[in-house]
Amino acid sequence: MTRYRDTYAKVRLDYIKENVETLYKKTKKPMVAIIKANAYGHGYKEVASVLKDESIIQMFAVATLKEAVDLRDLGVKQDILVLGAIPLEDLDIAIKKNISLALFSFDYLNKINEMHHYDAPVKVHLSIDSGMNRIGFKTEKEFEKAMEMIDSSKIDVEGIFTHFATADDFSQDDEYEKQLALFKSIVGNNRFKYIHCDNSAAMMFHHSDYGNLTRIGIAMYGVDPRGEENSDLKQAMSLYTKVAMVKVVPKGEKIGYGMTYTADEDQYIATLPIGYADGFTRANQGREVYINGHYYPVVGRVCMDQCMVKVDENVKPGDDVEIFGEHISLAKMAKEINTIPYEIICLISPRVERIYEK
Ligand SMILES: *Cc1c(COP(=O)(O)O)cnc(C)c1O
Repeated sequence: MTRYRDTYAKVRLDYIKENVETLYKKTKKPMVAIIKANAYGHGYKEVASVLKDESIIQMFAVATLKEAVDLRDLGVKQDILVLGAIPLEDLDIAIKKNISLALFSFDYLNKINEMHHYDAPVKVHLSIDSGMNRIGFKTEKEFEKAMEMIDSSKIDVEGIFTHFATADDFSQDDEYEKQLALFKSIVGNNRFKYIHCDNSAAMMFHHSDYGNLTRIGIAMYGVDPRGEENSDLKQAMSLYTKVAMVKVVPKGEKIGYGMTYTADEDQYIATLPIGYADGFTRANQGREVYINGHYYPVVGRVCMDQCMVKVDENVKPGDDVEIFGEHISLAKMAKEINTIPYEIICLISPRVERIYEK
């Protein structure tokens, strides 16, 4: 396969399947596989392809209607849920493709009733805002009012869910407990086909048995939701490039835009064909990459398509470079650039080809 460039992401689809099985052992509950944002950068069509015949996966959840429609066209038979708002001009597409929507406000509910022109009802999951203040109905009163306003010929309530804001942070256990208690009290004795609240962190680190589905995103990709190392999971994505050029920069010369780095001795500098347009952000200045068994720092500013690394005489053009992977975990990288692994993988841009291994 022609790749056209030396920068690529390797995605181990077999690891994703293994992680799903590892996680399933904990709760034995069917899962919602969260494959929004191009499956956290891993490629949603490819990830869905390996999970669509997996009996543990009851449902897929996405962020946009486009992703949902693409999954149907791929032959996905499981339920598909869009977690956020869609433009309701497209409501009939959702119904026709048997795609479920999150129902999260009175305004959205009224618009669904108004925009509904199809001869089957739209399937929805009621979103309960138990404390995060993102989307959803906030109180028992709002919940009851929403249920009353639902015209069952137009809306079929298939499920109810909430989302935790602090399940990954033990110092805020009380907030998690409050959210869970509120969600439970709102659901009360009402019957729903699907009741779900656990994201990766809630499922892995809390022991509530509430709900009949878990919603798993980051852990499925083999990354701990707290941004810690976790040997129970297998990180599915790694990012590589190759050395494009090596030269000796004489003492006193400067490197990169703004000339922010000065060689304090004659030194070997390698140029890599990866930059912030690949998602290798400028925050990586000063961080290390892995070449031939050694770690070398990025010096000077990261450019759009290239960056420079201080190396030694052992590094040659064409040598493989690991940006993250077996020797540099996403957890470590995220800490060093003051972000979370989620953001790093979502930002790996489309021009970085994903190479799949089954
Ligand atoms: C993204 C998302 C998830 C998945 O969260 P992870 O921490 O990746 O497991 C679950 N539920 C909702 C509503 C989400 O938006």
